[in-house]
Amino acid sequence: MNINHWIEGAIVDQPDAPRAPVFNPATGQATGQVALATNDVVAHAVAAAKQAFPDWAATSPLRRARVMFRFKQLIEENHDRLAECITREHGKVFGDAKGEVVRGLEVVEYACGIPEVLKGEFTEQIAGGIDAWTTRQPLGVCAGITPFNFPAMVPMWMFPMAIACGNTFVLKPSERDPSTSLLLAELLRQAGLPDGVFNVVHGDKVAVDALLHHADVKAVSFVGSTPIARYIYGTGCANGKRVQALGGAKNHMVVMPDAPLNATVDALMGAAYGSAGERCMAISVAVAVGDIADALVERLAARVRTLRIDHGMNPDAEMGPVVTAAHRDRIVGYIDDGMREGATLVVDGRRLAVPGHEHGFFLGGTLFDHVTPAMKIYREEIFGPVLCVVRVPDFDAALSLVNEHEFGNGTAIFTADGLAAREFAHRVEVGMVGVNVPIPVPMAFHSFGGWKSSLFGDHHAHGPEAVRFYTRQKAVTQRWLMHEGAQFTMPTHG
Ligand code: NAD
Repeated sequence: MNINHWIEGAIVDQPDAPRAPVFNPATGQATGQVALATNDVVAHAVAAAKQAFPDWAATSPLRRARVMFRFKQLIEENHDRLAECITREHGKVFGDAKGEVVRGLEVVEYACGIPEVLKGEFTEQIAGGIDAWTTRQPLGVCAGITPFNFPAMVPMWMFPMAIACGNTFVLKPSERDPSTSLLLAELLRQAGLPDGVFNVVHGDKVAVDALLHHADVKAVSFVGSTPIARYIYGTGCANGKRVQALGGAKNHMVVMPDAPLNATVDALMGAAYGSAGERCMAISVAVAVGDIADALVERLAARVRTLRIDHGMNPDAEMGPVVTAAHRDRIVGYIDDGMREGATLVVDGRRLAVPGHEHGFFLGGTLFDHVTPAMKIYREEIFGPVLCVVRVPDFDAALSLVNEHEFGNGTAIFTADGLAAREFAHRVEVGMVGVNVPIPVPMAFHSFGGWKSSLFGDHHAHGPEAVRFYTRQKAVTQRWLMHEGAQFTMPTHG
């Protein structure tokens, strides 16, 4: 099956397109061939979005919100269909895919309130007979470039807010699981969104570079790995665009000696192995403080050995495959590195066969103990079902460890001590912090983003930050009672 672009409200075939295979990670079979956009296809999509912009920008916020309300309803009606599509191309278990859709839906729900959120500020009588106000206006054509690990949620961090603010949008989803974006495009059409307001171009670096260099693209939102985020930010800014680029992560969970052990182990299991560790907010480092380490590792190991791993449509599966064979091999390479560098491999997930799915891209849960900050498995993002335990003597050592890491996306502390939790939340140099919450992903009305090498730019994603990112402020000063006589000094209005 060919997977094609979506431009001006319809599927656009690109007959001679270069194509890339899309796999069902559970079977290892290719299920489709996705078109890789050339410069011409990107130019077509941007031109469609540019043409649609003036009318859409002039559409009242209330009418834009009504499209979002219908879109919200259609997402709810198509919830299972969207989740099945995610599981088929990404591999995550169906229940988790449904959860992803809901976390994207939250942003659509926030966008439904856009008339309230877009209200500007007004000051009457800043001087005799003069009023002043600020308003926020859309930018034009905005582009989104998204990763494989959330094919519904991450695009929905971007386009509902951009569109509700009055912009038009070109999405370049991951070429590894591209089909969900087309379902969303079809639902937007059914919701009454005018043609050209939302477009999808599939592709790789060629398509991304075409967007980054196109003069009519005014803003770029990116989510993906740190090297590409850094490149997108530098190139987009050099071309005069507004850019937000969210990158990779290495999220630590600090386990204090007084943490309740069973609840903490449960939290770590879900946070480290859910979605096979392919979440930017997955916990990949457990920092065991003081004498809790031995008991923590012992209980974790027992749970990791009995993880239920199967294809994502099995309702009993806790974890599915990883996204591609190449990604599985990369993760295996990291496990080999960890052993070479002297970490203790407590549970080895490298040789897992799932009966009936022998060609699927499966890996078992893997647990390392005695990991040190110098090791590659500690420094780099693995993005797989691999949890590293680092042992430290006390709270200060744990805090320093987290703060000295290159990444600063999410972190958590598990403890019964309110003061330790308060100090951690206050002093840690990370964008999103959980206290006894392992994956502290903010709801849509609080915006999402990390620090350090996990985010390039000034704005976090979705919610109130997205309104600032996808609009520019205008300040108007108005007088209707005019006086004669030139004035050569600065007006002081006092
Ligand atoms: P990726 O960086 O490989 O790809 C992301 C996007 O960039 C894709 O659309 C891809 O086509 C494009 N791309 C890839 N190589 C490119 C190149 N050389 N030039 C231009 N564009 C290129 O990321 P991925 O493997 O799809 O996703 C996993 C990564 O995303 C992880 O690092 C994860 O931590 C990160 N992520 C971060 C967040 C966050 O909020 N910070 C959220 C989700 C995922």
